[in-house]
Amino acid sequence: MQGKINVSVENIFPLIKRFLYSDHEIFLRELISNATDASLKLKHLAGIGEAEVDYTDPRIDVKLDKEQKTLTISDNGIGMTAEEVEKYINQVAFSGAEEFLEKYKDSAKDSGIIGHFGLGFYSAFMVAERVEIITKSYKDSPAVHWSCDGSPNFTLEETDEKSNHGTDIVLHIAEDSTEFLEEGRIRELLRKYNRFMPVPIQMGTKTESLNLPEDAPEDAVAETIEVPNIINNPTPAWTKMPSQLTDEDYKAFYHELYPMQFDEPLFHIHLNVDYPFNLTGILFFPKLGNNINIEKDKIQLYQNQVFVTDEVQGIVPDFLLLLRGVIDSPDIPLNVSRSYLQADGEVKKISNYITKKVGDRLTSLMKEDREAFEQKWKDIKVVIEYGMVTDDKFYERAKSFSLFPTVSGKNYLWDELLEEVQKNQVDKEGNTIILYTTDAAAQDTYIQSAEAKGYSVVVLDSPLTPHLIQKLEEKNEKVRFARVDADHINQLIAKEENSVSLLNEEEKEELKKIAESVATEQNYQVKIEDLSSEDLPVSLTQPEFFRRMKDMQQLGGGMMGMGMPEMYQLVINSNSSWTKKLLSEENEEAKKTMMEKAVQLAKLSQGLLKGKDLTSFIKSSF
Ligand code: ADP
Repeated sequence: MQGKINVSVENIFPLIKRFLYSDHEIFLRELISNATDASLKLKHLAGIGEAEVDYTDPRIDVKLDKEQKTLTISDNGIGMTAEEVEKYINQVAFSGAEEFLEKYKDSAKDSGIIGHFGLGFYSAFMVAERVEIITKSYKDSPAVHWSCDGSPNFTLEETDEKSNHGTDIVLHIAEDSTEFLEEGRIRELLRKYNRFMPVPIQMGTKTESLNLPEDAPEDAVAETIEVPNIINNPTPAWTKMPSQLTDEDYKAFYHELYPMQFDEPLFHIHLNVDYPFNLTGILFFPKLGNNINIEKDKIQLYQNQVFVTDEVQGIVPDFLLLLRGVIDSPDIPLNVSRSYLQADGEVKKISNYITKKVGDRLTSLMKEDREAFEQKWKDIKVVIEYGMVTDDKFYERAKSFSLFPTVSGKNYLWDELLEEVQKNQVDKEGNTIILYTTDAAAQDTYIQSAEAKGYSVVVLDSPLTPHLIQKLEEKNEKVRFARVDADHINQLIAKEENSVSLLNEEEKEELKKIAESVATEQNYQVKIEDLSSEDLPVSLTQPEFFRRMKDMQQLGGGMMGMGMPEMYQLVINSNSSWTKKLLSEENEEAKKTMMEKAVQLAKLSQGLLKGKDLTSFIKSSF
């Protein structure tokens, strides 16, 4: 047998309460939204001459009465006639029970998105055991009083309690929701959700002292007056036109948005589009340095100035989550799960638009004042590199603004860098080799050897470097990256040179054995190379491939390189006079001692000489 369980309307309020348990606080946002709508509607009607009222002071008033256990939200907006209460409040609430449940049951499962729902007026019953509406329409009709205790029984009668147009919603807060009788809690919610709503929201009054006149006597006391305590800023910067705003205004807005943030933003991007979707907003580039964590001060999403969430994954591409600011769009579907959001065509368009705007802005900043842009590079590069690694289109765009600073203080664009290195850094196989350092101070010895050959060394020290160079190699045939300490410089950019060796095979074999008896670490590999007599006799290098795998693993780049030890090559220069001297030593012990010292020096230059080894090295050096 098949059947259908009849959902009795008696059940609706307990169900609302249960389903939406996790997010009771949104009732306030919903009621303030209704009050805002009512105010804006009346403003509109007054503006076009449809309503004969002088509506100069739209205002929402939030009042707490601890004794009566009530929270009242009042507006002086459009109001409702008795018929309208019937139609908008009663009928919807009581005839649509089944539909209502149908509509909300799926979303309720995924509690993360409940807060995104326009639940409307009924959400009041999540926190109130009784709700009253006292409302008077702007039309000439008597005020009405509606009252309901959460059962399908309500009362609706005319009243003379109200003479002005507008609506008071009185919530009799339930026993389990008394937190909403605390002023601090209500202020917190108003700040969270309603901080930038377009109608002024007042909660109580505050005292302000009047300015004393200039010629006031010294002992004069300033007079104080009570003024409404307005909680919100009804016209936040993003609702204005860029031409109305100065740099200072943008900075002030940044601090308004993130009061705990003391850094100045580096620059902003004002978003404003109305076709094919509506979106406004302001994004800020903060000083990021090498920080790729985003835990606080995230981008906030608003819909018509109502705060929705600061979880904007999917709407804003991942690499731009590092930015700060707001986006406001009525066109983002919020009553759907995140995976749907990412697949949604409209949302994809929005995300692409944002990426494009950011790209355009960076391009023009670079064009307008390259020097200033170069100065900011170290603080913004993680965003751009992240974008280049994850987004092919952005990668292409970034060619006009992503910089490659060198240790000698130049800043190349990619094409400029290629042009420069192709003069001198092409190896015998025709590969263009880009030398880089991740830490110029620590890798100084190697940088010096590279610069001695006239090579450029690029500084790539962000946490994304391994991924970035991987991407650049993928995209550019015959271009390879090598960290300066990945091998001996002659090996890194191997050229067609006839290398001569001053040692014969036997001598080389002996040299290798001695070295191996000293450098017994498992992850060391000894290599004898015919370098120039000027080159260091012994050096330690870290092969590029292994090191890169390891770096990626540390970044969380998957299983590659998991548990891999650091690999080192101990490069011994067969042509150094030191080598000759070592081989000419009389006894084995003396040879070994010489080698030991050299290996210690090589370790020292890689920062690998530590603890006891370092102490004994220093002692013996003295
Ligand atoms: P929604 O706001 O999504 O339409 P609600 O349940 O919140 O749904 O409200 C239903 C209707 O009741 C509104 O569309 C509006 O016509 C009316 N209403 C609610 N609150 C107010 C108010 N403060 N002033 C005037 N009308 C209101």
